[in-house]
Amino acid sequence: MERTDSSPPLIRPRLGVSSCLLGRPVRYDGGHRRDDFLADQLGPHVDFVEVCPEVEIGLGTPRPTIDLYESDDPGRPRLRRGEVDLTETMETFAETRVAALKELELDGYALKARSPSCGLRDAKLIRLDGRVEREGKGVFARVLRSRWPDLVAFDESDLEEPAVTEARMTALFARARFRARPPGMAGLQEFHRRHKYLLLSRAPEILRELGALLGRGEDCEETHRRYETLFCFALSNVPTRGRQTDALFHMFGYVSSKLESIDKRELVDSIEDYGSGHIGLAIPARLLWHWVRHFEDPYLLEQAYFLPYPPELGLLDSISAA
Ligand code: SF4
Repeated sequence: MERTDSSPPLIRPRLGVSSCLLGRPVRYDGGHRRDDFLADQLGPHVDFVEVCPEVEIGLGTPRPTIDLYESDDPGRPRLRRGEVDLTETMETFAETRVAALKELELDGYALKARSPSCGLRDAKLIRLDGRVEREGKGVFARVLRSRWPDLVAFDESDLEEPAVTEARMTALFARARFRARPPGMAGLQEFHRRHKYLLLSRAPEILRELGALLGRGEDCEETHRRYETLFCFALSNVPTRGRQTDALFHMFGYVSSKLESIDKRELVDSIEDYGSGHIGLAIPARLLWHWVRHFEDPYLLEQAYFLPYPPELGLLDSISAA
């Protein structure tokens, strides 16, 4: 879909990233795990902030492997290299590094899956009885998530699923727009107006809550903070067909009275066919965008729903094929 002068600005997100995902040879074996989507497709549109926690605590490359071991404290497995316990070293580093990253106002973080330092949920965890399960949270990732629960965080295995990739990129670029919004209540109101249909397609109940929050008109730090928390929570959802269909029909209402009956039928059919799973989202979304531009509907032209991230990422077509 093409941008118009009314489209929301595309702000470059600041994205923390596990260095090995960009091809840096920092892994224990001197290798890397370059992710082509991150490095080649997303890279031109974001500002990366690279972090390799194991190198930054001085473990060197190459290095002996480290592992997570279940402990008596269930939320805090030990990080060990043989008999050497690195848990406190990594936690202290992570607290300091995460505080510095917060100063940089990151919009998101791409983490290496299955790593005892960077893994979000599936690092190897050695149980007290010796069983090995893929349920561990890497120590750096655990501190990052606990200190910054609003942050848009994902790993490269999320990027194997087109719908999840699309949802994470939508959230990442929306978060960057939130950071760069105009100041004060007017800026927050404008941001909200432009994101109404993104919110409706993900979490209509939160859209209502945000509307009520803004309706109180209290221009204070707490209002902005509360808005940010709820907005990020809403966009952490992967939208369902049902909610996307609702949002499309709501927007259809803005142009329906101006359409010839044959064009109205075509648009309704495409939304219904999407809703019943026969076609992908790209078809009704593009058709609706065509008519929004044709009639120059001022409210829908400025909706982030149609252009939530750079169209060059090609994500709408990839979820269509899913
Ligand atoms: S997973 Fe994390 S700690 Fe391991 S090499 Fe990659 S960036 Fe470094």
